[in-house]
Amino acid sequence: MSTMLVTGGAGFIGANFVRLALEKTDAKVVVMDKLTYAGREENLASVSSHPRYAFIRGDIADRTAVARVLDEFEPLRILNFAAETHVDRSIDDPRVFLETNVGGVFELLEGARSLLERSGDRFRDQFRFLHVSTDEVFGSLGPTGLFSETSPYAPNSPYSASKASADHLVRAYHHTYGMPVLITHASNNYGPFQLPEKLIPLMVLTALEGRDLPIYGDGSQVRDWIYVGDHCEGLLRVLNGGRPGESYNIGAGCERSNLDTVEAICRVLEEERPASSNGALQARGLGSYLELRKFVEDRPGHDQRYAIDATKVRSELSWQPQLSFEEGLRDTVRWYLQNRDWCRAVAADRLTERVGLRKRT
Ligand code: NAD
Repeated sequence: MSTMLVTGGAGFIGANFVRLALEKTDAKVVVMDKLTYAGREENLASVSSHPRYAFIRGDIADRTAVARVLDEFEPLRILNFAAETHVDRSIDDPRVFLETNVGGVFELLEGARSLLERSGDRFRDQFRFLHVSTDEVFGSLGPTGLFSETSPYAPNSPYSASKASADHLVRAYHHTYGMPVLITHASNNYGPFQLPEKLIPLMVLTALEGRDLPIYGDGSQVRDWIYVGDHCEGLLRVLNGGRPGESYNIGAGCERSNLDTVEAICRVLEEERPASSNGALQARGLGSYLELRKFVEDRPGHDQRYAIDATKVRSELSWQPQLSFEEGLRDTVRWYLQNRDWCRAVAADRLTERVGLRKRT
């Protein structure tokens, strides 16, 4: 049985991926996660007693901890999800983004290099290091055009700059040491287990509490949404069939302005939990979720538009998304409505409060 090391597996996408990998592969799945505010063991509760699952609490930027995990499990696959991921937080406190997203990736690559040096040819041929990256490394688009795998890097936030730096390191380890690496750039994910510091769960949970829905700037910024399950399927395809040294963009072609997204959420909520039956809205004398919309100060340096050309992963690896934005959004809203304990536990961390308004110096 081969082993897959999933770093950051207790986070939003990682936890969804771990469940899929246990279901769709025969591999032993070892999660290494620091359990920052974003990592929660309860995200993996449904697999905690699975015979092919193991959890190690550890920091990818800790060389000794990385070496220990690689020595013990000798994973044939390493998938790196571990990262600081919230753009607004990277504006207030970029240091930890550099420490994890760049320093951590460096330690993982060094650990993998050492593992490969002491492994046989067969292991080396089959080994893969898949680095999960973001389309935000390409910067911001105007009204037209799409990011392809050959788009130039132009990251605009400390978050995206840290992810871009890591991509370059991963690429360099292929070029210099021949490490069989893969890089994926996904667009904005949404779905179960996403923390309410990110747009969709923030709007769902804030609306349910009858509080104002903060829309940054004029809400015209466009994001290209992908359901997390579709992204994870794409990652498995790249892991199993991607060509070492290549990068793959994964996006579902669901462009929406932030304002349109907020309004779509309000409409789904109206059907699933009508405002007329929500005491929090009634207490404010409001008859619909749409009345909660409130335009607030924009994010400094806010990227205007992201959109992905996923032709390569579609044609080379026969991947395609299964859910439309409308289907995925309804499933997601239902998940938050049905998992109130998770939502309450997360609410204790006050993640819905606004951060990242630091002014230009
Ligand atoms: P998340 O913030 O929900 O989870 C990140 C996980 O990494 C957490 O479990 C956290 O505890 C762990 N972690 C953080 N620092 C660590 C460290 N030093 N050592 C070990 N573990 C650490 O993030 P997510 O939304 O699930 O994103 C996962 C990956 O996918 C990230 O690399 C992100 O850049 C990338 N990505 C995310 C999106 C998106 O829309 N969410 C889109 C494209 C790419």
